[in-house]
Amino acid sequence: MDESAPLSGPPTIVIILLAGGRGARTGFAAPKQQAMLGGKPVLQWSLDALAAYPGVLVSADEIALPAGWKRAAPGAERQDSVARGLAALAGLDDDAVVLVHDSARPGVGRDVIARLIAAIAEGAAAAIPVLPVADTIVRQADADVVDRAELARVQTPQAFRLGALRRAHAEAAGAAASDDAQLVRRLGEPVALVAGDARLHKLTFAEDLAMLESLLGVEKETMRIATGMGYDVHRLVAGKPLWLGGIRIEHSHGLSGHSDADVALHAITDAVLGAAADGDIGSHFPPSDPQWKGAESWRFLDYAVQRVADRGGDIQHLDLTIVGEAPKVGPHREAMRLRISEIARLPLSRISVKATTTEGLGFAGRREGLAAQAVATILWKE
Ligand code: MG
Repeated sequence: MDESAPLSGPPTIVIILLAGGRGARTGFAAPKQQAMLGGKPVLQWSLDALAAYPGVLVSADEIALPAGWKRAAPGAERQDSVARGLAALAGLDDDAVVLVHDSARPGVGRDVIARLIAAIAEGAAAAIPVLPVADTIVRQADADVVDRAELARVQTPQAFRLGALRRAHAEAAGAAASDDAQLVRRLGEPVALVAGDARLHKLTFAEDLAMLESLLGVEKETMRIATGMGYDVHRLVAGKPLWLGGIRIEHSHGLSGHSDADVALHAITDAVLGAAADGDIGSHFPPSDPQWKGAESWRFLDYAVQRVADRGGDIQHLDLTIVGEAPKVGPHREAMRLRISEIARLPLSRISVKATTTEGLGFAGRREGLAAQAVATILWKE
């Protein structure tokens, strides 16, 4: 976009949205306007609320702009950033109304904007939203109480007749002010106070995020860890190919079953379905259904993994134990981990393959079959 081109059309209301600060007091690593609030960055809240108007985003952030918006680079101080926003509006008439807003206040509502616009329409050069001071206020020097009835807390957006804000900035000539209404007041122009909005609470400290979540009624994203277990047994029969842990192993016996009978993949599949509270392998792939006869078992695990992904789950870990006397799993352990990591689309570090015998006891001890147990751990965001 051509940064110097005037905004198209003759808008009567235009936005300067400030998002150039570092927000060091939050203690966050990234600028505070990038902090996540209700599933989107703090800055996006203001952009969404103000997207109906054309505007200038004064920010170095890489964020998609609404239609009709342009971007300006932030200055060293807030006042410099506003000046750059004004420069980007050079093509607009002095009669336009500009709303200057701080993106650290994500709770912009229509009502406060309507009050600001009305005050400008009634003749004010500037209008600012204010809230009463509820706490007792004292001077730090002598603990003397200041009459709080005389005081008000100032919020943004602040509305200005564009011509007045231009003159205020031109005449400020380097004099610092913490907001633009003060500059307009120095011109002797009337500044109207309108009722502010508690939801315009500013993100200054880390704990303000929790306050904003409450004020804006957003659900905090929570994490839930679920574990699922799977268990399976298949009979060993002579002369069949042995599929175990997703790989073909040379052995005198293979496992019998409706599919390729990979007992290890079946246990893992059931563990994944278990951690998703999503039935079991038999309910998804009924042995009565001829289409699964001789099926490759990796398809079952692939299917279960995809169902978890579709629902936003993140498989954290798969832990498998194969129970039997033979074949020895040790020589094949790494090949199994690698194959399972491929099927489940997970890093190798999240796949564990273990084995044990039963000291000659039971069906596994008599080499009549192999058993497998698996535990899956899934992280769900909700
Ligand atoms: Mg099975």
